[in-house]
Amino acid sequence: MENRRRRATDRWGKAIIIGGGYAGLVTARILADHFREVAILERDLVTEETGVHPHVPQGYHAHAMLAKGAEVLEKYFPGLRGELQGAGAPVFDYGEGISFLTPAGFAPRCRTGVRIQSFTRDELERNLRRKVLKLPGVSLHPATHCEGLSMRRPGTVTGVKYRADGKPELLCMDADLVVDASGRSSALAAWLNELGQTVPAKRVVKAKITYTTMNFDRSPEDPPEFHVAKQMTFAPHIPRGGVVLAVENDRWTCSLFGYGDEVPPTDDDGYVDFAKSLGNPDLAGRLERRTHQERVYRYINVNSQWSLYHTMKDWPERLLAVGDAVCTFNPVHGQGLTVAALEADLLHRTLLQRRMHGAGLDGVSRNFQRGVARTVLAPWTLSSNSDLMWDPHQRPLAARFAHWYNRHLFEVAVRDPRVWTRFVRVINMVAPPTALFHPTVLTKVIRQAAPRRHTPPTPE
Ligand SMILES: Cc1cc2nc3c(=O)[nH]c(=O)nc-3n(C[C@H](O)[C@H](O)[C@H](O)COP(=O)(O)OP(=O)(O)OC[C@H]3O[C@@H](n4cnc5c(N)ncnc54)[C@H](O)[C@@H]3O)c2cc1C
Repeated sequence: MENRRRRATDRWGKAIIIGGGYAGLVTARILADHFREVAILERDLVTEETGVHPHVPQGYHAHAMLAKGAEVLEKYFPGLRGELQGAGAPVFDYGEGISFLTPAGFAPRCRTGVRIQSFTRDELERNLRRKVLKLPGVSLHPATHCEGLSMRRPGTVTGVKYRADGKPELLCMDADLVVDASGRSSALAAWLNELGQTVPAKRVVKAKITYTTMNFDRSPEDPPEFHVAKQMTFAPHIPRGGVVLAVENDRWTCSLFGYGDEVPPTDDDGYVDFAKSLGNPDLAGRLERRTHQERVYRYINVNSQWSLYHTMKDWPERLLAVGDAVCTFNPVHGQGLTVAALEADLLHRTLLQRRMHGAGLDGVSRNFQRGVARTVLAPWTLSSNSDLMWDPHQRPLAARFAHWYNRHLFEVAVRDPRVWTRFVRVINMVAPPTALFHPTVLTKVIRQAAPRRHTPPTPE
């Protein structure tokens, strides 16, 4: 008994995280509870005070944190929401604080019970980094470019090969666990190939979308009731969309986006014209009232992609992959941050359970990647079904059905606050997608979709 209790509280030795972006930081927070040492290897020259940095180019664009993601972050970083609020990032009810233009018209303004917060990715990342670097045992190794894995025991990853500070020597750092959190540009598949592993092809969905983003000041004349104004895209007739978020320091972050050839311009006049071409005047109005603006950024998103590591029979022991290194979603659905937070939560539960049972780290990696796949599946299905509808040659039956259902669901939701609330809960990942097929919703959607009986005009 004594022995068992001791094993349950012992932490393991050393973990390495490849990449000190968002997923790397939340993973470090978890690993600090389970390892005596956690080394974050980050290729950019970041410090405790850095927010967004060069190899996180998406960080300059509007990032919405879904309610589920915020809930998980608050669990591991208690007080985070309050600190961001202190810097001026508003907290509000999704139904009350957003002017949301759906394909069927404006969403009802009603209390949904789903509370969210808007802030810049820059502020979030800086805040997380400061907190993580205060944790005992955590070290940050900036300007450190990881270039491969070492596998000194067959089938087991034992460390990471890297070059530090631009020096030519290839060094190796040993660890008991290695986590790839290197984002969309992860070279993990190539590293595994070098070690003789066969990596399955990624699942890819074309989602060419261009973001153009500008931060600007909040005018005292901006109507105070909305913290967010948004217009969603919807295949095939609404290829332009945008969002403006109230963020810290009395600013707005505005991201305009377009599918395919619809490219929001970077010049001032073109930018404002694009915003005005959207159907939501709440969005363009805030932009027109600006008196001070910051630099404009552009990001082109080509594909959504999912690396199917969970299907590998020879996936090595002591290696995990998280965040965009596993799956990148089309950003318009705002899922990436929340999925990475859920993966961190899964990691905590997995490691805690093993320590409680006095088990070692062998056997963790394959189970964990299967759990990651289960976490990714629902958001991937939601976003890829909608993206597949942009390409007339790529529309599988499931996507066509989902699209048909959503189209009628929006028609119902704009008139029915209860249905809208369910939709809000699902897109914020606090309810499963099946909530949209609850009989109370299903019957309304079917009634909406049923062809209207045509009444012949009465003769005058
Ligand atoms: C335009 C845009 C808008 C988005 N909006 C939203 C949104 O509204 N809501 C949302 O939830 N998600 C959004 N996302 C997705 C979100 O940005 C990602 O899901 C999130 O950044 C993933 O975090 P990550 O840590 O896995 O990857 P990243 O944030 O990309 O971090 C990867 C890190 O690894 C480092 N790195 C890479 N290679 C190496 C190496 N070899 N050695 C050492 N370090 C390395 C990089 O420097 C970087 O710091 C958006 C994405 C885009 C493109």
